[in-house]
Amino acid sequence: DRTLADFDPEVAEQIERELVRQQTTLEMIASENFAPRSVMEAQGSVLTNKYAEGYPGRRYYGGCEHVDVVEQLAIDRIKALFGAEAANVQPHSGAQANAAAMFAVLNPGDTILGLDLAHGGHLTHGMRINFSGKLYDVVAYQVSPDDFRIDMAEVERLAVEHKPKLIIAGWSAYPRQLDFAEFRRIADKVGAYLMVDMAHFAGLVATGLHPSPVPYADIVTTTTHKTLGGPRGGVILSKESLAKKINSAVFPGQQGGPLEHVIAAKAVAFKMAAEPAFKDRQERTLEGARIIAERLSQPDLAEAGISVLSGGTDVHLVLVDLRHSELDGQQGEDRLHAVGITVNRNAVPFDPRPPMVSSGLRIGTPALATRGFDAVAFTEVAEIIAAALTGEGEAEQLAELRGRVEALADKFPLYPPQFDSQER
Ligand code: PLP
Repeated sequence: DRTLADFDPEVAEQIERELVRQQTTLEMIASENFAPRSVMEAQGSVLTNKYAEGYPGRRYYGGCEHVDVVEQLAIDRIKALFGAEAANVQPHSGAQANAAAMFAVLNPGDTILGLDLAHGGHLTHGMRINFSGKLYDVVAYQVSPDDFRIDMAEVERLAVEHKPKLIIAGWSAYPRQLDFAEFRRIADKVGAYLMVDMAHFAGLVATGLHPSPVPYADIVTTTTHKTLGGPRGGVILSKESLAKKINSAVFPGQQGGPLEHVIAAKAVAFKMAAEPAFKDRQERTLEGARIIAERLSQPDLAEAGISVLSGGTDVHLVLVDLRHSELDGQQGEDRLHAVGITVNRNAVPFDPRPPMVSSGLRIGTPALATRGFDAVAFTEVAEIIAAALTGEGEAEQLAELRGRVEALADKFPLYPPQFDSQER
């Protein structure tokens, strides 16, 4: 039984390099985080060997006595964490959670109303070549050109006009909170189901730092690897009345065998999310985003045509508006990459540049908060970003900024040295 390094040095080497990349750079992709060792231990366990089609106590395979316990723990913990009536922890990803949730309540050809991809929605909320755009008749709402916030009057107007069977609230790139009560009122007015995709902000909801959609929505979907800080995966929460339909939409509707090793890692992450240290982490996440938004709203940035979309943030990310800057999204992303900060370029609403270039940057703080970054550290990060975006991009300045990034990375070590490749 050979180790990875012994049997497959090519793959082992890239894993080692990726570890060093994560340790020595600052990860600010808003949808990323660092799973703790306990989560990765569960995910890398022998549970990967087990077939368990079905649900705890009702499996189509023998030998499920231990994975039954694990899956039930995951279900019970996430129900308690969010106060949900029912939970399905089997979706392999956020996209599959959304596919199954829609499959449970819609027929092909039904109308859905979701946030436009170009305005911060997700692919699965109705993008043209995604399953959601191909199977369903899509109507999209947008943000207002005045304040870049979702225009609830527009949502209501579109809902009344198109009578969707499902309204989707939730986003991948939006710096503000949503008005779940208002979405519920509109859904009730037109007889639609309300689904909230809280993939991005689930960690904030779990700690009471963001309003919860659970009391308002028929279905709440989430990923488990973003602010929630667990393994890559998806979950569907719902009212009890929809639980049966959702379970059968996941299996056998969309998936075969569940990934019990990932479900075990989800259970670990849900336990962690209920602890006080997790709330402290989410508080630093929000504080970091506010510090960055404030710094990037200062006059020196405005002079370079750079601002912050909607003027600030209520969540874990900041959307930088480069529409009036000579620097485009691609160049901004490259500039930050050169100093050791990883972000992604992002189209902003009403973006004049093509999507592959774009006029925005999405900057998130969850991963750095997991490393332990506090207000002082985030202030330094904000200064580095401001300097990188407003500078001339000269090698000397970028090298100086890269040095400051390395100093921060050293100060907040990620995965201690004893965390060697044998254990991964
Ligand atoms: N929903 C939202 C709002 C997302 O931002 C994402 C991922 O970016 C997903 C769903 C899909 O998650 P996954 O990448 O796990 O399929």
